[in-house]
Parts: sequence; structure tokens; C-alpha cells
Amino acid sequence: MGDLTDLFAPETVAVVGATEREGSVGRAITENLIRDFDGEVVPVNPNYDEVLGLSCVHDVGDSDADLAVVVVPAGIAVDVVRNAGKAGIRNVVVITAGFGETGSEGATRERELRDAAEEYDLNLVGPNCLGIISTPNGMNATFAPENALPGSLSFMSQSGAFVTAVLDWANEEGIGFKDVVSVGNKAVLDEADFVRHWGDDEGTDVVIGYLEGIDDGRAFIETARDVTEDTPVVIVKSGRTSAGAQAASSHTGAIAGSDAAYEAGLDQAGVVRAESVQELFDSARILSGQPLPRNDSVAIITNAGGPGVMATDAVGDSDLEMAEFSESTLDELAETMPDEANIYNPIDTIGDADVGRFRTALDLALADENVGAAVVLSAPTAVLDYDDLAETIVESQAEHGTPVAACLMGGGRAEKAADVLSEAGIPSYFDPARAVDSLDSLARYRRISEREYAAPTEFDVDREAAHEVLSRVEERGENRLGVEAMELFDAYGIPTPAGEIVDSPADALAAAEEIEDPVVMKIVSPDILHKSDIGGVKVGVEIEDVYDAYEDLVSRARNYQPDAAILGVQVQELLDVDAGVETIVGMNRDPQFGPLLMFGLGGIFVEIMEDTTFRVAPVSEPEARAMTDEIDAAPLLRGARGRDPVDRDGIVETIQRLSQLVTDFPAILELDINPLVALPEGVQAVDVRLTVDPEKLRS
Ligand code: ADP
Ligand code: MG
Repeated sequence: MGDLTDLFAPETVAVVGATEREGSVGRAITENLIRDFDGEVVPVNPNYDEVLGLSCVHDVGDSDADLAVVVVPAGIAVDVVRNAGKAGIRNVVVITAGFGETGSEGATRERELRDAAEEYDLNLVGPNCLGIISTPNGMNATFAPENALPGSLSFMSQSGAFVTAVLDWANEEGIGFKDVVSVGNKAVLDEADFVRHWGDDEGTDVVIGYLEGIDDGRAFIETARDVTEDTPVVIVKSGRTSAGAQAASSHTGAIAGSDAAYEAGLDQAGVVRAESVQELFDSARILSGQPLPRNDSVAIITNAGGPGVMATDAVGDSDLEMAEFSESTLDELAETMPDEANIYNPIDTIGDADVGRFRTALDLALADENVGAAVVLSAPTAVLDYDDLAETIVESQAEHGTPVAACLMGGGRAEKAADVLSEAGIPSYFDPARAVDSLDSLARYRRISEREYAAPTEFDVDREAAHEVLSRVEERGENRLGVEAMELFDAYGIPTPAGEIVDSPADALAAAEEIEDPVVMKIVSPDILHKSDIGGVKVGVEIEDVYDAYEDLVSRARNYQPDAAILGVQVQELLDVDAGVETIVGMNRDPQFGPLLMFGLGGIFVEIMEDTTFRVAPVSEPEARAMTDEIDAAPLLRGARGRDPVDRDGIVETIQRLSQLVTDFPAILELDINPLVALPEGVQAVDVRLTVDPEKLRS
């Protein structure tokens, strides 16, 4: 697959399967192209010499096209694509359905299509899609009822129906596009390819997408990271729940679900994720229309108290904060505003404010270095002309270069004003919360564009030793491992407390004597997932009680499950857990993004607390560190209420070492270190559970 420039800017487009038959897709596409396309349209159909007044060739090879749009029946589509390839056409859009979406025959056909594309090095869109649009040359190679308006947003959608709905609505709203792609089954070109292309495309200011899934999450992250440094990418992803999570036997798997992977992966890719279609377009519009804010602080300028409070609440709910004006701004506001006005943020110019007073307040706020962005908010009054106000906002915004979102509340009265604002790239909404949210996504993107991505640290580890531990699943015919696999951590430099697995009371005693002090004793059985649940963990066993404790643990396990395989008892050094924090570091493999790391508050209540955060592995040091900042309990790690802070560097390093372990061994399907006890000095992995795929271990 090569450069996509010609896909969107061909000189000649062939429609293979063009026809005059009423109501057919072949006719709709041909008509759409004839109507607006600046280049040449060549119908291809062996049955006709003319279609819709254009001379029709019988073979795509005779079309001399640089883009072929294929609407022939599925049974012959692959042959047509091959012929196009043979004839030197490099860009193909396969509209035809009946491929991977329809079962095994279709899946085979899709594989053949992919092979053909590979053989002839084709940029292939689809199959099973609505087509593509590019507005600079007026090319509407879709069967949507309407063309798009010209603009600077480039849009990809996994649903063709959604494209037609969006076009209809966007035309009404005056929202324009550079390119539009219905990606279909993504047999060849996928979301990463389009993001890469539009990242380099002069005509595209913002990339937006509606996605149901991302095929290769890691590749997408790598590509999008590059692009989002200077081109914003906003994506709405549907399907927040999945069956994948249900089978999980680890805490990480149970908590993760599939959306956790998308949430983490899209964020790591630098994508601004939208929760709804409205948010998608609100974000896209302000990102294409307004400059980035210099900080996260917002000024609100209003003539009405109530809406000012609403906007203030919305700021509170967002990642933005209310700006604090500088002394000189406050002095000047005090001088110029009436006595009844509020000069502190939100600035209330009060009900009798005319456009002049708004302008004064706006200029002062937008010029203040403490202000990153502003919301101009107004209710209609007899002394305020909305059209003049809109002009004023446009002028002041342009003069100061501080981004603005407007909220000229009202109905018909606000319509023309909204057009004036929109023309200048300033969004205007009735709802103050929407104005604030759009500024929030602007600020979010600023933070993304300023990110510095680091490479993951490579630790010196003993891969062979780790492989040997994992291989024990083979001998045991059991794909789950518990504390008997703690040596994995020795191999990967993750600290563990002193301890030993023994298989007799006498050996338990010897082990405890070596450790000295009271010890912790745990049943060791791959069949017992949650040891404490069956009373299988004894914390603080005195030396004289070790012998009995051994027998008690084994008999509890037998009572619980008579046929459980019991490997023995682990005797472990007792840690001062009260002086630290029990955390969890885990991994669950996501089908699209691969290893998904989890960090959170651990211990036996982890699934009740669900105070966790995720990243796709491998992670760099700053990413691992960010995880320790993100959980709600982060203040606990920093040492709340007179407690000593715990060793955060130790946690950060453990996350990275686990990241390396699960990246090195795709055979590890899921893994929990729970708890990783974080102490004021050092961290200790006291428990582990993992699932291993023996097949993958061999390959
Ligand atoms: P499981 O999760 O199977 O119940 P764990 O080994 O995680 O078993 O132990 C359960 C709890 O016991 C831990 O969350 C921790 O509170 C405590 N615990 C386990 N090992 C130690 C230890 N070495 N020192 C202090 N407390 C421990
Ligand atoms: Mg545990």
C-alpha cells in the first residue's frame, strides 16, 4: 500500500458496474460522480456502450482510470479488482457487499481480495462500504443521496449508514469536509492508514472517526501518536461492552472489560475520545476553528447570573478551571464596569449591558495572561443586539488570539449571530455546558500536542529462567499458576519477600526458623484461586504454631475441594502491611490492543474498590508513573494523614518490569500481582496468579 493522494485526487474515475437501472447502486454512484466531479468519469460495463450519456467501456483495463469504484456482484468482484490491478490502476474502492461480513464463503472471498490487493500493491477501500468523497475535486464516489460541503474535517466511518446520516445533518449545519471515507470491512486500508494520510494532508485540519473496532491496536497507537502531535484526531467508538471480559479468571480481566483497552489505547494514541456524536462534532469544530489555549483556565463573561453559574458548574465538572484575573485586569474591570457588576470570574456585566460594555469586559479578559480561553454567555435583553455582539466577539477573539466559545442563548434571535460566529470558527451553543465542554476538548488536545513520548526502559532480565517457570504448565497439564510461579519475579527483578514452598510440617518449621519472627503461611494449589476465601492464608503465625498451621491449611483445602491438587504450603516473611499500601499490578490480554496493564488499589477487596487505571504495554517510565498518579487513592501513596509516603519509584519500576515480562511472553494470557505491597521502603510482590497458553510457549 502506498501513498493515498491519488485515491482522493484522481483525474479519472472508472465505475465498474455502472448502469442506468433505476434504484441501483451503480446508477447512484455514476450520477453522483457526473454531478460534481471535476475529472473524467468512465462507466465500465460489458453490456452497454453508453451509460447516462457517457461512453461506456467493456473492461476496466480500457478505462485509463486512476481510481476504480467497484459495484459489481460479489462473485466477480475479485476478478474485477485483479483486472484493475493488471491494468495499472492502483486505487480501488470496493462498494460490493458479501465478503467477511457474511460467513465463511465471504471470508474466503475477502482473503482473495486482500491477496489481489497485495499482489498489485493496491490502495483498496472496503469492501462492503458506501464509498469515498473528496471535496476539493468534487468527487462523490458514494451512493449517498448528498455530496459533502467543502471544509477541513476529514471523516472516516465504519458504518456507511452513519456517513449518510452525518452528511445530511452536516449540510444542514454548514459543516464541511475535506475527505470522507466509509471504511467498510477494512480488508486492506484501515483506520491507521487514513489517520497517517490525513496527518500529512494540507487540506485536513482535524481527523474525525466513528469506529466500532480497531484491528491492530498497537499499530494504531504508533501511527496516531505521530499524527496527533500536530493534527487533532477525534474518535467516537461504539460498543463499550464485550463478551471478552466474562471468561477472565484474574481480577485484571474481570475489571478490564473491552472498553478499558480502548480507553487506554486511544489515549496513548493521542486521540481525543468523544463520548457521543454531538461531542465528536463539537470537538472537531472548535479544534478546526479556534487556536489552542495557553493554559487550562477559563474566563466567563455574561450579562446574566444564572447561566453564569451553569457555566461555572460545567467548568467544575471538566478538566478546566476558573481563571483568576490578574490585579491589573481587576483594576480595569473595576474602573469600567458599573458598581453592581461582578468583576471576578464569572464577569457579570449585568442585565443592562450593551455591546460596548461586553466588548470592554471581553477585551480585558482575553488579554489577561491568566486566561486560557473564554465563554461568552448572554441572555437576550432590549439593550443588546445579538448580531452586533457576534461581530464584537469575532473581532475581540481575532485581536487577542485567545480561543472563545459562545453561548448566545435564544431561538430565532440568535440564529444570524450564530452564523456570523460560525463563519469565524467560533462555535455557539444554547447550552453553556456544551460551550465549556468544547473548550475542554481544546485544552485536552493542547496537552496531547505537548506530550513527549519516551521509549520503554529495557531491564536486564533472565528470560530463560522465566521460560522455565512458565513451562511448568506443560508438566502439570494445567494452564493456571499461583505462588508456585513466584520465581518469575526473581527472573524479572520484581522484589518478593523471603519465602519457600514446603510439603511437610517439618519443612515448614525449618523454613519459618530460617525467616525468624512470625511468618505468613498460604496453601499452594493451582485449583484454589482465592486463598483467603477458604481460610488458606494465615498471617502472623508464631514459630511454635507453624506445625499445626501446616496441617490446618492442608485440611481446609481438602475440605473445600477434595480433589484439589495441593502442592504444599508457602512459608513467607511477614510484611508490615499496615505501614504501606496493598496495590495490584496486573495484565489482561486484549484481542485488539494486546497486553493491557492495570494498576490500582489491591488486596482482597480489589473488585469491590475498582480503583484502577490501564495502559497498553509496553509502557515507558513516564507512562508507568502516570498510572500511579491516576487512581483515586493516589494521595494514599503520597502519604496521607501523617503516614509515610510509600516507595512510588518501586511501584513504577514493577509496572515497567511486568510490562517487559508480558511483552516478552505472549503466552502469558493474564497475570495479577495482588497484592504488590508498597512500603515506605521498597515494594514486595506477595502473591501471583497467572494463566499461560502452553501452545504459545512452544512457538
Ligand atoms: P489470596 O489473594 O489468594 O487470598 P494473598 O497471598 O494475596 O492470597 O494474601 C491475602 C492477604 O493476606 C493479602 O492481601 C495481605 O493482606 C495478606 N498477606 C499475604 N501475604 C502477606 C505477607 N507476606 N505479609 C503480610 N501480609 C500478607
Ligand atoms: Mg492475592
